Amino acid sequence: MLRTPHSLAHIVLLILCCMSAVAQHKPETSADQIWIDLAAGNQRFVMGKTALHDFPSQRKALTKTQHPQVAVLSCSDSRVPPELVFDTGLGELFVVRSAGEDDDSLSLGSLEYAIEHLGSTVIVVLGHQSCGAVTAACSGGKSESVNLDAVLTPIAPSCAKMDPKKPETLDLAVRDHVHSVAQDLLVKSELLKKAFDEGKLTIMEAYYSLETGEVTKLR
Ligand SMILES: [Zn+2]
Repeated sequence: MLRTPHSLAHIVLLILCCMSAVAQHKPETSADQIWIDLAAGNQRFVMGKTALHDFPSQRKALTKTQHPQVAVLSCSDSRVPPELVFDTGLGELFVVRSAGEDDDSLSLGSLEYAIEHLGSTVIVVLGHQSCGAVTAACSGGKSESVNLDAVLTPIAPSCAKMDPKKPETLDLAVRDHVHSVAQDLLVKSELLKKAFDEGKLTIMEAYYSLETGEVTKLR
C-alpha cells in the first residue's frame, strides 16, 4: 500500500517534535564554560555595565521550575551579593549564605538539594576581602553567644595562616578558609562526594575583592 505524502502541517509537527527532543537532551554546559560566563558577568559588574534583566518575563518563565546550573556558597556580607557580583538574572544561581560561608548541616543540605534535585553542576565557594567573620575568628576574643561561636569556630583553624601582628595578612586566612570549606564539602557530604566522583559536580574556590569588585578563581 502506498503511503500518503506528509502534509505540510505534519512535517512542521515532526520538526517541532525533533527540536523539542534536542532541547530535552541538550548536553550540560561544561564547568569551564560556566566559569567563563560567570567571569563575564563579573566583568560587567566591575565595569558598571550590567545587563538589562527582564525580570517580569524571567519570573513568568520560572514559575513552575528552576534549573540553576550554579550553586554559590558565600558569606552573608552585604557587600558581596552573588547575583549582583556575577550579574545574573532569576533562576541562574542557587545561593546559600552564612557569615563566613560555613558548611554546616543546613548549608550542606541546601547544596545537596541543588545538586540532586535542581540539576546544578557547579558549586562556587566564595570568600571575600576583609571578611568580618574571619576577622572576628582570628582576633582571639570571646564571642557573645553560642550562636556566634558556631560561626567563628569553623574558621579558627585558618587563622594559623595569618600573622596576628600583621592585619594585612588576614587575606591568607580568608583564602585558606575558602579552600578548607571547599574540601570539607566532599568530606561531610556523601551525596556531593558521589556526584563529584561521577563527574557530575565541579567545585570552584573564589575570592571577591571589595576594592575592585572582581572575583578571582583560586582553584
Ligand atoms: Zn564575610
